[in-house]
Amino acid sequence: MANKDYYKILGVEKNASADEIKSAYRRLAKKYHPDLNKTEEAASKFKEVNEAYEVLGDDKKRANYDQFGSADGPSFGGAGSGGFSDFFSRASGGAGGFSDIFSDIFSAFGGGSRSERVAERGNDINISITISFEEAVFGCEKQVTFPKIEKCPDCNGTGAKNGTAFNVCPECNGTGRVRYQQNTMFGTTIREAGCQKCNATGKIIKEKCSSCNGKGYKRVNKTINLKIPAGIDNGQTLRMRGEGDAPVRDGISGDLNVKIKVSAHKILVRKENDIYLDLYVPFTTAVLGGKIEIPTINGPYTLSIPELTISGTVMRLKNKGVKYLNREYYGDMLVTIKAEPPKALDRKSKELLQELQRTIDNKNYPKYNSFLDKIKK
Ligand SMILES: [Zn+2]
Ligand SMILES: [Zn+2]
Repeated sequence: MANKDYYKILGVEKNASADEIKSAYRRLAKKYHPDLNKTEEAASKFKEVNEAYEVLGDDKKRANYDQFGSADGPSFGGAGSGGFSDFFSRASGGAGGFSDIFSDIFSAFGGGSRSERVAERGNDINISITISFEEAVFGCEKQVTFPKIEKCPDCNGTGAKNGTAFNVCPECNGTGRVRYQQNTMFGTTIREAGCQKCNATGKIIKEKCSSCNGKGYKRVNKTINLKIPAGIDNGQTLRMRGEGDAPVRDGISGDLNVKIKVSAHKILVRKENDIYLDLYVPFTTAVLGGKIEIPTINGPYTLSIPELTISGTVMRLKNKGVKYLNREYYGDMLVTIKAEPPKALDRKSKELLQELQRTIDNKNYPKYNSFLDKIKK
């Protein structure tokens, strides 16, 4: 399943929100559901759409898919230890999974009247923060402040003073439901639906909550402590379930998505979990060997360069790279040795080098000789 473009299958952008993915999936699942669509391609399309949603509808699998092109890439898959799994709680099959969506689809097609008081979901909030190279490597805690809609605490989200200043709705006598006649081309039908006067709550506000002006929600600046796990990489997003906007009426809060931007290190370059360093050394060090102190993410390290090292040689320092998210293993550090000639030669150096050139037999350069042999042929 590695090479399929799940975003394309669902017809969404790579940066689509969870809501966009969910609604794209619902639309396509309806379109291709074998009970509803008898065309030949429907069954395979339906399967494909489900496969795509199984990955993209799950934060954890989606993150893996984005990073590794497969839903069970090496990074997030393991048994979560510590805080990070909280960010991906949806992956554990909690709310918002398949059964949810299917019951929606089928109730929509079952002909039954759906309740008008469908649970709403508040909006997701997207923010981004920039952390240093070291903070990404070792993990950190950050306070972030962002504006969001919260349930009004003074009226407990009801919009009525103290949460209690209500009258019974006269339209529905407090039941929240009304019956009405509907004239359609098939005749007159009696339908029951949520009462519009009281928003199907059965209550009418007698006196508005002054704190939220009767709305039941307020815009506030919220500060939270964000735990950023060691190994997070530039461009990854932490999702905090339920930290987004509260719904305007009943329902659940949206999510807070925090996109992580990581500043570059002045010397080291990170590629996924490996660290790269181009190390220029005097050409004499490459030939004679020597020790050079280099920076690593864990501090200075003395690198021994062996005698007769060819420029371009990559020395791999095992486990000196970045920790994998939620795993107890590490990337490597890869040091590319680059032999640097002197910027200028004084007369004495030049003479010594010319002397050296005469002294070393050309046969002593096997790669160079093999090259010469190849072009002769
Ligand atoms: Zn009513
Ligand atoms: Zn209020």
